[in-house]
Amino acid sequence: MPENILVAVAWPYANGPLHLGHIAGAYLPADIFARYHRLKGNNVLMVSGSDEHGTPITLKAEQEGISPAEVADKYHREFLQCWGKLGISFDLFTNTDTKNHAAVAHDIFLKLLEKGYIYKDSMPQAYCPNCKRFLPDRYIEGTCPFCAYTGARGDQCDQCGRTLNPSDLSNVHCRICSGVPRFETTEHFFLKLSAFEEQLKSWVASKDYWRQNVQNFTLAFLEGGLKDRAITRDIEWGVSVPQPGFENKRIYVWFEAVIGYLSASKEWAASSGKADAWKAWWTGQNKAYYFIGKDNIPFHTIIWPAMLLGYGGLSLPYDVPANEFLTIEGKKLSTSRNWAVWLPDYLERYDPDPLRYYLSINMPETGDTDFSWYEFLRKNNDELVATYGNLVHRVLTFTNRNFEAAVPDPGELDEMSKGLLDKAKARMGEVDKLLYGCHFKESIKTAMSLAQDVNRYLDDTAPWKMLKQDRRQAGRAVYTAIAAISVLKTMLYPFLPFTSQKLHNYLGFEGDIRDAGWTVQFPGAGQKLPQPEALFVKLESKIIDEEMAHLGGGGAA
Ligand SMILES: [Zn+2]
Ligand SMILES: [Zn+2]
Repeated sequence: MPENILVAVAWPYANGPLHLGHIAGAYLPADIFARYHRLKGNNVLMVSGSDEHGTPITLKAEQEGISPAEVADKYHREFLQCWGKLGISFDLFTNTDTKNHAAVAHDIFLKLLEKGYIYKDSMPQAYCPNCKRFLPDRYIEGTCPFCAYTGARGDQCDQCGRTLNPSDLSNVHCRICSGVPRFETTEHFFLKLSAFEEQLKSWVASKDYWRQNVQNFTLAFLEGGLKDRAITRDIEWGVSVPQPGFENKRIYVWFEAVIGYLSASKEWAASSGKADAWKAWWTGQNKAYYFIGKDNIPFHTIIWPAMLLGYGGLSLPYDVPANEFLTIEGKKLSTSRNWAVWLPDYLERYDPDPLRYYLSINMPETGDTDFSWYEFLRKNNDELVATYGNLVHRVLTFTNRNFEAAVPDPGELDEMSKGLLDKAKARMGEVDKLLYGCHFKESIKTAMSLAQDVNRYLDDTAPWKMLKQDRRQAGRAVYTAIAAISVLKTMLYPFLPFTSQKLHNYLGFEGDIRDAGWTVQFPGAGQKLPQPEALFVKLESKIIDEEMAHLGGGGAA
């Protein structure tokens, strides 16, 4: 029975270009997972979209003197181009500024209101007398009540990761003018998070397969007690509040953005012509995986599950494999200081698969990892080119020249050849298990170790030397290497989709590699092989200096 797998990926704020931290944190692991499950024959729905509301967008619009919608449009289009070039294979990448999203957000709001999980109350809202405006949470800075960090924002503390209300902070000041805001009482709607505390505690405690950091963080958060949170704000940009008297307020972005997973699923279903198709991933038997960075954990393990519990009848997250952070050249990534590698820049200069490779084998799954251009070059040249690409090229060009461009007949396999093919099959089984459990780094290491085994096998059997003495034996070695390489292209497809597709065709298979599925696919004797090209390009060491010159300086996006 195929499984219904929802691959829900964090919604990027459409206020600036994507960088490698985004990719390593959420988009690449999500894409690997989706591609793997599609090969397995499971029903995958992979959705996300641009978060077009929220303070990051309005701040950017104010800086550039254009409307928030113009800012959001510009980056949304750029995101779509990046997904295409990097091979991030969304079924739908939409945005939060659609009628459908507002309708779904209103439906959830009204159902929670009707059930008493949303209620009206008044709360102090920060008003800056200098700036003459109510301040969105992110415009407010102060001291965190939990960890005493002095740079905590009104919505979240970057040091301890806790979500906050502006009035929780002490020593508050306005981030625009540094003045001291006063708090004025206005009416708002509140989400009754406290009602879900016990249910969430036992739900999270039962998730023994979650990553330790995600489960521990969530349990510690719950231990601190859940406070009700205001879900509306005195702002103009966002989804309207479907209640009279609230025309000048908006639903706050953290409440509305997580609903995007559901609204995007519904939009995808409507556009596919089967309006109810989304239900396969939201009701009954299914598994919903949420791929996010660690700063987003509480929204996906507490707030969104609470909303789903309150609404009723919809599936809770099955797993939330949140990643840690990617540092750049040993330092914390910072978009404001331009200490970042921007994805559009990368894609202009290099191929997608080498980046996918490096970020996969160095994925920040259980701790922060570092990106450096030196390591990028080394991994490309020593691992992709030398270990994998050259292996493929050597075997295929040798076959072209000496076996009339067709897979040789192996005859009876000897022990050593059988041993390699058994190893290839076993390796594929291991990678299967690892990918199923979201262990991406370990998966690609395991897959690549087969390339080393094939190189060793060829050193031992030396078909290039053997050709004149014993053509049958040379043919057997070449066949065995080609068969093992064919297993490599399947195992590596979720990580390296572009080169795996090329290799699929170089090995004489026609059409799309996805149609072959997650199977050990040995080529038949006599299968015709087209002239191959190199899978990977060796990079010059001068790129390191060139790239380092872009870091940190001006020209921040
Ligand atoms: Zn804190
Ligand atoms: Zn101010």
